[in-house]
Amino acid sequence: MAALRVSRVIRTIATCGWRAQSSQATATSPKSKHAAGFCFELTDEQKEFQATARKFAREEILPVAAQYDRSGEYPVPLIKRAWELGLMNTHIPESYGGLGLGCFDSCFITEELAYGCTGVQTAIEANTLGQVPVIIAGNEHQKKKYLGRLTEEPLMCAYCVTEPGAGSDVAGLKTRAEKKGDEYIINGQKMWITNGGKANWYFLLARSDPDPKAPTSKAFTGFIVEADSPGVQLGRKELNMGQRCSDTRGIVFEDVRVPKENVLLGEGAGFKIAMGAFDKTRPPVAAGAVGLAQRALDEATRYALERKTFGKILAEHQAVSFMLAEMAMKVEIARLAYQRAAWEVDAGRRNTYYASIAKAYAGDIANQVASDAVQIFGGNGFNSEYPVEKLMRDAKIFQIYEGTAQIQRLIVAREYIGKFKG
Ligand SMILES: Cc1cc2nc3c(=O)[nH]c(=O)nc-3n(C[C@H](O)[C@H](O)[C@H](O)COP(=O)(O)OP(=O)(O)OC[C@H]3O[C@@H](n4cnc5c(N)ncnc54)[C@H](O)[C@@H]3O)c2cc1C
Repeated sequence: MAALRVSRVIRTIATCGWRAQSSQATATSPKSKHAAGFCFELTDEQKEFQATARKFAREEILPVAAQYDRSGEYPVPLIKRAWELGLMNTHIPESYGGLGLGCFDSCFITEELAYGCTGVQTAIEANTLGQVPVIIAGNEHQKKKYLGRLTEEPLMCAYCVTEPGAGSDVAGLKTRAEKKGDEYIINGQKMWITNGGKANWYFLLARSDPDPKAPTSKAFTGFIVEADSPGVQLGRKELNMGQRCSDTRGIVFEDVRVPKENVLLGEGAGFKIAMGAFDKTRPPVAAGAVGLAQRALDEATRYALERKTFGKILAEHQAVSFMLAEMAMKVEIARLAYQRAAWEVDAGRRNTYYASIAKAYAGDIANQVASDAVQIFGGNGFNSEYPVEKLMRDAKIFQIYEGTAQIQRLIVAREYIGKFKG
């Protein structure tokens, strides 16, 4: 399988020049000629890999999306295919077997996959969320072992931070890590973990300083935990409103022994790593929301060009065409927002402010646009024979996971007002 994948990826790269693109992405620093001016034109390579992701999403994901939504089955064949095509784990550096794409280029892929089905895209994107802590904070050995594993086989990983009692308030989490000799013993319960039942390993955040007065910045440690460790107990697959083929679960960690080699960066560095990952993962989440919104807009537009009322097509009623115009405006602006946030990552700058703007705005407009699409479909929009009710259900989570819409506003306010305080 590994050989097959390598040959396919190489073939893809030969066709699309992704590795070449990856080095261009690295060159997208403020000093490079690409970034010296303001340019909306994608490179030929970017256009090609966008086209590859688009073709896969529209020809292979989209036709089976409703079926996966109904069954809730984990989309293994689609994930394998995405992996073979090099559409997963795109940001893993080349030195660990990945394509080493920048955030900007990875976001294009995410948007396209989301157009096909955000359940499938979330399963794929959760790998990014699980990996980024290792990419930003792992040592050479950890990166080789855990990132390398994901490029050798189509394996999943997951980000285990949220708990039943602590989601937005990450500092309130209760999972404990106690050092005993060369190991840490983990006890606690995680909740809503995407890929929870499918992951090969987890990034896990636990409280390592029992002193309740310890500063948050030093009280937590980030670990890589093998999913088959004794004491890891998987909960049932949650039945969610949308993105139903994505695997979300609670996980109990009972006396799980983790070697000290699996600590990321050092004891006490976990909170910073877990939060720092979001700067890199929120732009792709926003890109996923844009993919969904674009799909809803396209479905609504096609329908408005076919359906007739009062002797003319819906699109000729000004009230409907203005709805489509509003939807299009929102999609275009949300796309620009995630592109800016991703570009800042590739330029090596702190992008917290832009990442939260993109995530909040794209999450909101995905919901508005999907709801408007249902409206344009009328009664048909409320029915599962048509695609838009699924889009409306799928959209909601974009305002919740990876920091809710309210938490993004807290961050934007803090970052913006902070500039005035100097
Ligand atoms: C399908 C799904 C997949 C997920 N995947 C993962 C995953 O892979 N890994 C992981 O670790 N987590 C995951 N999560 C968890 C997700 O990130 C949390 O659900 C989210 O951060 C919100 O936390 P909460 O559910 O505890 O809500 P709460 O924090 O209890 O918030 C409830 C409400 O109060 C609001 N609120 C809370 N605090 C404030 C405040 N200070 N000011 C204003 N409003 C506030 C929130 O915005 C929200 O509207 C997932 C969740 C779901 C549903």
